[in-house]
Amino acid sequence: MDYKIINVTMEDEFKVCPSCGYKDGFHSMLKKEENITKWLFICPSCSDIFDVGHTLKNEL
Ligand SMILES: [Zn+2]
Repeated sequence: MDYKIINVTMEDEFKVCPSCGYKDGFHSMLKKEENITKWLFICPSCSDIFDVGHTLKNEL
């Protein structure tokens, strides 16, 4: 897919968009990789996609 994923380090919360400052939280998306599914967050304002390091284990 043709989009950029921005890695961020989450502190106590992840609510404000680091790119545009939108402060009301995120949409989410899941992206399957080899052994895990990445849980990604999309800013509703600027559409940047963020990875805060959350993953889900793939079902076998
Ligand atoms: Zn944004």
